[in-house]
Amino acid sequence: MRFMCWLKNLFKKERKRNIERIIIHYSASDRPEHDDISVIRRWHLDKGWRDVGYHYFIKKDGALQVGRPEHMIGAHCKGSNRTSIGICLSGKNDLRNAQFKTVANLIDKLKKKYGLKNNNVFLHKELRNTRCPGMTKQEFIERIDLQ
Ligand SMILES: [Zn+2]
Repeated sequence: MRFMCWLKNLFKKERKRNIERIIIHYSASDRPEHDDISVIRRWHLDKGWRDVGYHYFIKKDGALQVGRPEHMIGAHCKGSNRTSIGICLSGKNDLRNAQFKTVANLIDKLKKKYGLKNNNVFLHKELRNTRCPGMTKQEFIERIDLQ
């Protein structure tokens, strides 16, 4: 019984993960065979991770695929994983409007759910020394706003 209580509390605690950031990534590949979360999941499992590092993956056609459950800590941005949701856009040089439409909807939904504002949305490159997601914040905002 005690164990069940502990388990229940642990679960409750995880469900109440404090989200302060939404972090945007790209897969850095335009190859059609990489346009699916199952491929990214395999890459991450091969690194010895427990699951794909992102919470969401957005395919070229705009389809939203679910990765780690939101209550679980992701593996996508060192130093920020504990308090963030990671979203990955499939692509490198060829990111499409359908994807920006989906990410705009998802960001809206997450902002409402976690009480976040626009300044809680980050590109990976704003937090770490990386090119990810291959565009400036201005470009990202413009493409989101078009949707
Ligand atoms: Zn990234």
